[in-house]
Amino acid sequence: MMTNSFVEHKFLEQIPSELSTILMALGLPRFCVRQLRRWIFARKTTSFDKMTDLSKETRKVLTEQFGTIFQGKVLTHDQSVDLTEKLLIEWSDGERVECVLLRDDRNHRTACISTQIGCAMGCLFCASGMDGFVRNLTRGEILEQFLRLNSLLPDHERLTHVVVMGIGEPLLNLDTLLSALDDVTALDGLNLSVRRVTISTVGIPSGIRKLAESVVRNGKSYKLAVSLHAPNDELRTQMIPQNRFSGINEILNASDDYFEQTGRRVTFEYILIAGLNDQSEHVRQLVHLLKHRTAIVNLIPLNPVMELNFQTPSAKAVAWFAGQLESQGIQVKVRFRKGDKIGAACGQLRRIHR
Ligand code: SAH
Repeated sequence: MMTNSFVEHKFLEQIPSELSTILMALGLPRFCVRQLRRWIFARKTTSFDKMTDLSKETRKVLTEQFGTIFQGKVLTHDQSVDLTEKLLIEWSDGERVECVLLRDDRNHRTACISTQIGCAMGCLFCASGMDGFVRNLTRGEILEQFLRLNSLLPDHERLTHVVVMGIGEPLLNLDTLLSALDDVTALDGLNLSVRRVTISTVGIPSGIRKLAESVVRNGKSYKLAVSLHAPNDELRTQMIPQNRFSGINEILNASDDYFEQTGRRVTFEYILIAGLNDQSEHVRQLVHLLKHRTAIVNLIPLNPVMELNFQTPSAKAVAWFAGQLESQGIQVKVRFRKGDKIGAACGQLRRIHR
């Protein structure tokens, strides 16, 4: 039997039509794609051997052709008291990536997945970019994160939500991400509503426009979250170096266009760092930017990163900031931290395990 490193095709890299072509060339019936997709997406099966409605011969051919369904190896699997689970996956080139399963009391089962190994954005407060950018993840590697997280759930449960908020800048690996999300939202895939998929970006106007175009083309209006984090360009460029290429205005204009073209309200993420961006002048500036926009602000108290010298504001300071925005008509949500004990935030686990 061939091992995965020598196989001609990696299974999850193939979009359904490519898979069809390969199977037909192997002399397998067309409906085999349907069976395979049901096993993998609906029944969470991770091995050809367990697909008992395929003949032994077919299973053998599939194994010879593709090796295994998954390409990676789970290096660590942690679970925190709040039932957040985190996987560190290693790919065949030795590079590693993190993904997280979040549970809440509204029965949401949310997958948080990565799109790149490392990150080129270099945000001051984030662990993901501290060692720079290595490479984009492939379609199969992105899809594998979803499938592995889905299979952590008991048989009767399924992923209900997706947030693309792991390592990397999704808009810089957009085509690949969208290809994987096609399977996440397909009826014969994981069958998630597109409305329950959020893509978070550092704010790249050309990328936001490209995403909007894809929505117009295929009708999949994913939810867009933009990491604003600061209400003026001077502070934002200090926190997010990428800001020097566009500036806040251009990002907000692209976000307005996204809203217009998709009808989906954009979320602005705002990480709160004590003394840096949580003062009354910041409230004032933020209100000025957003008061005439249909937007929602997601406040994220900083998740402290070991090597970085930033402080999380007190709960009182967070509540004050939220209250100030609300009193001026801005809709606010505070994102509570989950899984900090297992390094579930923002690229921390990949750095710990080096
Ligand atoms: N590149 C995308 C996805 C990154 S992670 C983006 O920039 O949006 C998702 C969110 O976590 C982003 O808003 C990011 O700024 C935020 N984040 C990064 N480091 C953080 C930290 N230490 N504490 C809290 N949030 C953090």
